[in-house]
Amino acid sequence: MSVISRFAPSPTGYLHLGHAYSALLGRAQSDVWRLRLEDIDTTRCRKEYALAIPQDLSWLGLSWNGAIRVQSEHLAEYRKALEVLNQKEVLYPCFCTRGEIARAQSAPHFKETIYPGTCRNLSPVERDRKLQSGLPFALRMNVEQACKIAGHRRFFEIGAGWVDADPCRWGDVIIARKDTPTSYHLCVVHDDWVQEISNVVRGDDLRDATHIHVLLQALLGYETPRYMHHKLLLGSDGKRLAKRHQAVTIREMREAGITPAEVLKRIETT
Ligand code: GLU
Repeated sequence: MSVISRFAPSPTGYLHLGHAYSALLGRAQSDVWRLRLEDIDTTRCRKEYALAIPQDLSWLGLSWNGAIRVQSEHLAEYRKALEVLNQKEVLYPCFCTRGEIARAQSAPHFKETIYPGTCRNLSPVERDRKLQSGLPFALRMNVEQACKIAGHRRFFEIGAGWVDADPCRWGDVIIARKDTPTSYHLCVVHDDWVQEISNVVRGDDLRDATHIHVLLQALLGYETPRYMHHKLLLGSDGKRLAKRHQAVTIREMREAGITPAEVLKRIETT
């Protein structure tokens, strides 16, 4: 069976060495390597970065198979997946302010903040009143309820073996936002299924998210791929390479006259 993997950056900045490392690792282990742009967060994603990602990958010599999947072009599909979850009665509207939601869930990477379940505990009357008053709301998943439906789940971590899924560590995650009919978790799970991904190779910062993804896969009837969460490259300050380390974007290295071979060598030695 062929190994199908993907590289799924969010166009919120230029690719840096950390991205290139992840891309290289995923590509080296796959027979088919797909590219996906995770651009549903319209407040943070920019067209300029979305255009730069394929250019930078091509410059590095990292070619992908098939068409690039761009998440913002598939909102109707996510809406359908959302409806499947809705029918299983695991979603509820959350009216908490944008500030509170942003603090809890702004990035896909696991944070300590767990939603306290405020809106899960609204009485049906209160919920209706809020809905009717036209207050904007996001949809959260009642994770405990979802786990009861899905039953015990696990995933295979390459190099480590079977891991029992523990989605409750996340609390009730956002599945659709006030302004978008989806969230990172729903898109990723749906797209991995649509793109027939057999092996997800991604950074260690997303290891915790896998516990939620496995639960969503069970609810949506999607197969669970194998996972490999790799170490993160660190910047000279010892922190995870991120957009704040401007000096290490692929684009800047290219502009500074560094060759693709030198970039790839730098990855091996970082
Ligand atoms: N778009 C995510 C990021 O850039 C990666 C998602 C994934 O690989 O599942 O951090």
